[in-house]
Amino acid sequence: TKFSDLSLDPKVLKAVEEAGYETPTPIQQQAIPEALTGRDVLGIAQTGTGKTASFTLPLITRLARGRARARMPRSLVLAPTRELAAQVAENFDTYAKYTKLTKALLIGGVSFGEQDKLIDRGVDVLIATPGRLLDHFERGKLLLTGVEVMIVDEADRMLDMGFIPDIERIFQLTPFTRQTLFFSATMAPEIERITNMFLSNPVRVEV
Ligand code: AMP
Repeated sequence: TKFSDLSLDPKVLKAVEEAGYETPTPIQQQAIPEALTGRDVLGIAQTGTGKTASFTLPLITRLARGRARARMPRSLVLAPTRELAAQVAENFDTYAKYTKLTKALLIGGVSFGEQDKLIDRGVDVLIATPGRLLDHFERGKLLLTGVEVMIVDEADRMLDMGFIPDIERIFQLTPFTRQTLFFSATMAPEIERITNMFLSNPVRVEV
């Protein structure tokens, strides 16, 4: 398989080619076509397998049409740490460079003011750590009822860090009709429970 066989948006394809990627990694080959159909995906993959692109490329393709409204992000990517969230944001910038999609990165250690401004303008992709996202929500600055796609990255680390209750709460604030892409390196019982509760007939891909 080549990236050009994957039905990605041409603008995404161009950015991927510019990044110098020649062939999709196994997780990308399996997850991207499923995610593009709109199905929920449960991905079991470690860092270094190319999993970030396996959710970011279909996300950008799906959002390429349509426009964000003020305070209502169209998608949500949750990562366990500031560093991981920042890495996802960097990846997004690389792959979305030929689109007009907008993002905001909500992590601790950054003032609320700048983040509020971005949210007010409307963002297509909100990339956040769970606690910081809920802080913004509780300040009344953000609505999650417009979320079309929710992505959870490194769920096993979320579990280690005690974030599962936050994740459950965030799931409950988003529409049932959302698409969910959920990634974890391992399937601990608590992770299995969450996926049973919040994923709808997911395709399971494992590398
Ligand atoms: P990740 O597992 O998402 O942290 O990605 C690991 C590294 O692989 C990152 O530096 C990516 O830029 C790179 N990468 C992702 N997909 C590909 C690909 N298909 N070909 C070459 N490198 C890739």
